[in-house]
Amino acid sequence: MTNGSWMSRLERNLREILNRMARAAERSGRSPESVRLIAVTKYVSEDAARYLVRLGQRDLGESRPQQFWTRAEALADAAVAWHFIGPLQKNKVRKTLKHVAWIHSVESWELLAAIERMAAEEGKRPTVLLEVNVSGNPAKHGFSPDGLLAEAEKLSQFRSVEIRGLMCMAGWEGDAAGARRDFQTLRSLQEQLRAAAPKECLFDQLSMGMSGDFEIAIEEGATMVRVGSALFEGIEGDLS
Ligand SMILES: *Cc1c(COP(=O)(O)O)cnc(C)c1O
Repeated sequence: MTNGSWMSRLERNLREILNRMARAAERSGRSPESVRLIAVTKYVSEDAARYLVRLGQRDLGESRPQQFWTRAEALADAAVAWHFIGPLQKNKVRKTLKHVAWIHSVESWELLAAIERMAAEEGKRPTVLLEVNVSGNPAKHGFSPDGLLAEAEKLSQFRSVEIRGLMCMAGWEGDAAGARRDFQTLRSLQEQLRAAAPKECLFDQLSMGMSGDFEIAIEEGATMVRVGSALFEGIEGDLS
């Protein structure tokens, strides 16, 4: 595939995903602007990430710290809001804070405390989402829904992070009905936390839905979807 053709394919894919998102939002009685696309660039080259920005895509996501740092540094000149969405070890927090706008994958109190401490030291205030293991699948990360709700008052201890909501992954790939139940669980937890958590935690953002289930997630209330492979369909081999 020539350069020109991967670019036009990427442009077409992006437009199509934004259209599908808008239709899903309308089906659930919401405006298309109420759902944000996080373009997950982990499968593709820096050129492709840069081209997405040229196409007007502002929110980019990465799930591995090393690649996240390299990318964010390489695209430092571009107007990008960077989202970190993958497992984050405590010893990788400080460097991640340098570039990140949103951390979606805060999966434990220990990690939240580490981010809080280092953000204070670095004079940063990242926006974070708490990752919840909604399905109970032991392969997935995150707080247990009941545990988080029971300890919600602890959230008031964290002043150097802005806690805006929840994130999840559906428990079992390819199970659309199960995914819908998982997304409903996350949304209902969000509503309960709005009542139980300290008032400075807004709980107005739900990051849920990936290539295979983002429309279901939007129907169930997602405000952010994290889409990778569907964006790069038809061009992956030419870019990696
Ligand atoms: C890779 C990844 C995505 C995107 O997955 P696709 O199925 O390729 O869209 C979303 N969320 C997380 C946490 C990821 O690691």
